[in-house]
Amino acid sequence: MMEVVNTIAVMQERCESLRLSGKRIALVPTMGFFHEGHLELMRIGRELSDIVVVSIFVNPTQFGPNEDFESYPRDMESDLAKAEKRNVDLAFAPSVDEMYPGDSQTKIMVEKVTKHLCGLSRPGHFNGVTTVVAKLFNIAKPHIAIFGEKDYQQLTVIRRMAKDLDMDIRIVGVPTFREPDGLAMSSRNSYLNTDERVSALSLNKSLDFAEDLCKQGEREVFKIREAVEALILSHPHTAIDYINICDSHTLEDLETLEKEVLVALAVKVGKTRLIDNRVITIG
Ligand code: AMP
Repeated sequence: MMEVVNTIAVMQERCESLRLSGKRIALVPTMGFFHEGHLELMRIGRELSDIVVVSIFVNPTQFGPNEDFESYPRDMESDLAKAEKRNVDLAFAPSVDEMYPGDSQTKIMVEKVTKHLCGLSRPGHFNGVTTVVAKLFNIAKPHIAIFGEKDYQQLTVIRRMAKDLDMDIRIVGVPTFREPDGLAMSSRNSYLNTDERVSALSLNKSLDFAEDLCKQGEREVFKIREAVEALILSHPHTAIDYINICDSHTLEDLETLEKEVLVALAVKVGKTRLIDNRVITIG
């Protein structure tokens, strides 16, 4: 039976006694509204550990003032049923007041890798992410924490935080789970209407196109960016937030493709901001 815990104190007590009894804990941090991508993270957690903990918390501090915190999709009942079906042991679903009682004065800020991509279009976003993830690590005391490559920069930032702060936690990245037609699964896909859903395919299509161009020998970043931009904008309802081609480790801009590059996209489709990415090894 899965146990649902709402308070930090109970969670810490449960996780401490599990650790003391020799169990290995995997944590899957989420904002809920589960799709198959989330469930895949839980499956990997099951494979790698004895105990799977899933947190469900729509974290207000990682949303900007004009972003979708209020309207972010939520369905706790259905999420808990899905997690239970995946043999999750503990679900941690705190309230905002439980996580942020109001007298907190501490934030975690990772420097360089947050200065690119979503860090530019969403100021403060990654401080919110790293702070809540560090809190969740201290609450669930995991040996392993599992994140999706869909949020590639987030994974990079969390790896950096864990390394820099000597967190004794293995960070595991899981490849992006996609709909059969290639759209990266995301809770935000539920915002899309029928026409927008078609246009949303332009993200994955343009990543395929970028990869083809690289394979054909194109090495000029601006040419790939132009081609990607044209493909996306040929779909109605799309507006580009960024198209970035950068070093897959440092996330620093490149002019010429070399070694392992990240093609990262953030595109508004109607009012919905979608992201996707592809890592391409330059042969
Ligand atoms: P979210 O609830 O959107 O904050 O996502 C929770 C975790 O699931 C994060 O580590 C995400 O990177 C991961 N995730 C979200 N979508 C996908 C996907 N399509 N495939 C794999 N992992 C995903």
